[in-house]
Amino acid sequence: MAVINILDHQTIDKIAAGEVVERPASVVKELAENAIDAGADAVTVEIRDGGISLIRVTDNGCGIEKGQIHNAFLRHATSKITSAEDLTELVSLGFRGEALASIAAVSKVELISKTPEELTGIRYVIEGGTEKEREEIGAPEGTTVLVRSLFYNTPPRRKFLKQPQTEASYVAELTEHLAMSNPRVSFRFIANGQTRFYTTGNGDLAEIVYRIYGREIADALLPFQWQTDGIAIEGLLGRPVVNRANRNYEIFYVNGRYIKSSLISKAVEEGYREYLMQHKFPFCILHFGIDTKRIDVNVHPAKLEVRIADGPAFYDAVQAAVRTALSETEMIPEITLSQEKSQKADETVKERPVPEPFERRRLAKDSADRAVLQQPEDGGRYPLPAPEPAEDRVMREEYAYGADSAAQAVPTQTKAAETAQIELFADKILSEQSRERFKIIGQLFDTYWLVSFEDKLLIIDQHAAHEKVMYERFMKRFREHAVVSQTLNPPMIVTLSGRERECYLEHAEDFAALGFTVEEFGGSEYAVRGVPMDLYGYGEKEFFREILEELSGETVTGTPESIRIRIATMACKAAVKGNMRLTAEEAGRLIDELLTLDNPYHCPHGRPTIVSMTKYELEKKFKRIVT
Ligand code: ADP
Ligand code: MG
Repeated sequence: MAVINILDHQTIDKIAAGEVVERPASVVKELAENAIDAGADAVTVEIRDGGISLIRVTDNGCGIEKGQIHNAFLRHATSKITSAEDLTELVSLGFRGEALASIAAVSKVELISKTPEELTGIRYVIEGGTEKEREEIGAPEGTTVLVRSLFYNTPPRRKFLKQPQTEASYVAELTEHLAMSNPRVSFRFIANGQTRFYTTGNGDLAEIVYRIYGREIADALLPFQWQTDGIAIEGLLGRPVVNRANRNYEIFYVNGRYIKSSLISKAVEEGYREYLMQHKFPFCILHFGIDTKRIDVNVHPAKLEVRIADGPAFYDAVQAAVRTALSETEMIPEITLSQEKSQKADETVKERPVPEPFERRRLAKDSADRAVLQQPEDGGRYPLPAPEPAEDRVMREEYAYGADSAAQAVPTQTKAAETAQIELFADKILSEQSRERFKIIGQLFDTYWLVSFEDKLLIIDQHAAHEKVMYERFMKRFREHAVVSQTLNPPMIVTLSGRERECYLEHAEDFAALGFTVEEFGGSEYAVRGVPMDLYGYGEKEFFREILEELSGETVTGTPESIRIRIATMACKAAVKGNMRLTAEEAGRLIDELLTLDNPYHCPHGRPTIVSMTKYELEKKFKRIVT
């Protein structure tokens, strides 16, 4: 008979640690979140070898009292909640009281902390869950946690780590997400002695995006703000020119916490639908403030997921908000013939380092700290910092003699922000009011219409424009419940697969509302006797099937109304795919109609209908302007 053992405390800790500590990035996440919870306004994250040999997180937050240090490392010890009821009103990032215990169970941890009230700080060393050292030392206010030799006592887990470079990229991404969720906290991320990025903590999200993702993205962002009962959204929506090939740049925060949510992703993508080509995803950074009673964050060990109550209504609200915001913006992509302009602008951006919470002068005076922080690497101690760029050094020194608190030294508005500023409320080019200022020049390659408008040359893709106009006409009628059915005589017979049939039956009413008349014809055959009038003549048979195929391949979310709109969209997109020739007159009318639309800029498949080139660009090309 097998003997049932009761595991000892250290084994339990090691096993439990697996849930929280998967890799260096999870350690950094927990430590940095603790720093933010501690009210820090400057946080430095430093790693070596992808964080496997060393992670250091320094903050200038409230610190941990000497008497509390032991508790902080106990499992389920937290200062953030006292009972399960508090979970419904959670405002802090941490709450399980597991992180420090878990990290200490699988690495060698050194923590230095000082509260403003106490005269001296404390240095505490704990390895593999066992307390090793504990001493009073002089230290700046705040907390530094050093984590060395991750998984040194759990070799199997260590084996699952990827190359240091890959682990470092996870940490970098995580730190970026943290910086963007806390624009008022100044972050610095250092890998192998080099500053990878820093943020000033001046609260400007667009500036942070600029520093992390560069100019191209920063220039293509629209500030977005929206509010309804119990939900507030704020952030940046990327214009379609910066659509990405994967979902990594759909960055969402719920109540300050970075999360992955397929509900939110789907809703935002639906809002973007008319701007997204297939297999493309938006770039966006959105902060959701949701009434804490409507969400549950306690569903994932790393707190990466949330459950949102009343999903369908939430979905609809979000997609509508995003769509409206996008349709209110001028979306004509500008084509540049030369690169000089953008390169030049980039040069104006100068790095301005953020001061570290441990400023240098105090560090130098403080022998205890120096002993901790600057011993050579061979002793397993923290290595000397690598030489920094001169600029960095100057700034840091300046800071050491100037201010004492990180907040004071944070530079205010920088040049970067000015350069990255986007003109937001510029006049819309495509509008009925501006129609008379359009001059149609002619057609090119049987496809493009050249139009001049003030100091711009607009190039309109007639097929895309035609699709767009058709689509809008149909959707308008659909929304107004004014869809007319066109009878097919003889009826069109289609054979549906089991899955398609199931899908059809589930949505039979929606198809009827769209203007389809469909009857069973025996076996797996169906007779289509009527199709939406507006879509008549565009390959009914194919698009009826195509909708069913698309429907059965995805999970459709939302309220009944939004699902119906979704199906109408599919129908129309499928129908207007066919190209057609247009006369000049027809094209003229098409452009007229295009201008009456809310979103004239993209065809329903997400391709642009129109691009523009400025007179300035042309003149540069002909060297009339030398820059
Ligand atoms: P949790 O964050 O879920 O409370 P942790 O194990 O991460 O659990 O931390 C335990 C406790 O240690 C926290 O509740 C907090 O009181 C204290 N603590 C941890 N890190 C810091 C820090 N950087 N500054 C101040 N207090 C901290
Ligand atoms: Mg924590």
